[in-house]
Amino acid sequence: MLQHVEEDFQDIRDAVRALCAQFPDEYHRKIDEARGYPEDFVDALTKAGWMAALIPEQYGGSGLGLTEASVIMEEINRAGGNSGACHGQMYNMNTLVRHGSEEQRRRILPKLASGELRLQSMGVTEPTTGTDTTKIKTTAVKKGDRYVINGQKVWISRVQHSDLMILLARTTPLSEVKKKSEGLSIFLVDIKEAMGSGMEVRPIPNMVNHETNELFFDNLEIPEENLIGEEGKGFKYILTGLNAERTLIAAECIGDGYWFIDRVSKYVTEREVFGRPIGQNQGVQFPIAESYIEIEAANLMRYRACALFDEGKPCGAEANMAKYLAAKASWEAANACIQFHGGFGFACEYDVERKFRETRLYQVAPISTNLILSYVAEHVLGLPRSF
Ligand SMILES: Cc1cc2nc3c(=O)[nH]c(=O)nc-3n(C[C@H](O)[C@H](O)[C@H](O)COP(=O)(O)OP(=O)(O)OC[C@H]3O[C@@H](n4cnc5c(N)ncnc54)[C@H](O)[C@@H]3O)c2cc1C
Repeated sequence: MLQHVEEDFQDIRDAVRALCAQFPDEYHRKIDEARGYPEDFVDALTKAGWMAALIPEQYGGSGLGLTEASVIMEEINRAGGNSGACHGQMYNMNTLVRHGSEEQRRRILPKLASGELRLQSMGVTEPTTGTDTTKIKTTAVKKGDRYVINGQKVWISRVQHSDLMILLARTTPLSEVKKKSEGLSIFLVDIKEAMGSGMEVRPIPNMVNHETNELFFDNLEIPEENLIGEEGKGFKYILTGLNAERTLIAAECIGDGYWFIDRVSKYVTEREVFGRPIGQNQGVQFPIAESYIEIEAANLMRYRACALFDEGKPCGAEANMAKYLAAKASWEAANACIQFHGGFGFACEYDVERKFRETRLYQVAPISTNLILSYVAEHVLGLPRSF
């Protein structure tokens, strides 16, 4: 793990930075204002092979680990972009790599690597059950060689910029399983085929420029070969993806954190009020220094989570703690950055308010800070279950 910190992956950083430099602040600002999708940016990342980092070489990818993937995501955010537009493909493909059949891997992974297909969506959250995932009500019932899906999902991101989605549904009723985490399964959904033949997509306008949707399933039929892994074991599989997602998002928050620190340090050094730079005041320096310390500490936990994940070891605690620390640190850095920009922090042309909105999301999604605290209390410290 310490080796990762010292190694720092300079070659990957330099290459991703060079690509990101072609998409400066104005590009991301305009996309945000228009509530658009950074198609050219995601395309360039795909063509350069970065979106195929986690795909093994025999399927056309570069066979890198989560550690390297996290460096790619960090650099995108550090350069002023928002990995939220495309990070889904990274953790979703990992679910397919680890749990998909050989036939599925051969059929799909080379097309993801080439950019012919995108697998950017994961449908887990439901409106009536929220974080209580094992209680989801969407069902998949086997009929002949197909599964019939009925139910509803909410906050499902990038559906309109994806060809495939991983969907979690209950295949055995809750009342018939020993443990509530049993009887759930994951499926690959062909989005274009599903739209209009059993799946309805309703976009949710939201605070961030983040394409996210309500989904309604009314007798959507999925071929049985689209079941990933064994029926009933989907919750276990989805957790692998969630650990990857949390760790990658930790890295994105670290990238955001450094972006805020760079911007605010430069601004407070140049901005003069009362005849001297505002950064000369310790009341200004300390919150910046404090959030920098927290980002550096979060970075260590991020590398620890990545190292465990890449070694195939359990990393639930570390992935959650990395996400908690990094999201908190980037939020503190965002607050210092907007505060010390004074009124200019609110002007769109400084990009601070955009990044401020973007990084705020990670206190709630993909898992809220409270639920991480609850996980650590129960699963790491062995405290009594609260739910
Ligand atoms: C922009 C955006 C994109 C998203 N993208 C996706 C996606 O692509 N796929 C997907 O499946 N989901 C997605 N989500 C959903 C996201 O994962 C959930 O919003 C998040 O997990 C919180 O669930 P909830 O909104 O149902 O909140 P709830 O479960 O209703 O909880 C609300 C709040 O109550 C508190 N809380 C709840 N239970 C407890 C408890 N037991 N103890 C203490 N506090 C508690 C927490 O603070 C929590 O923030 C997205 C959400 C957003 C906002």
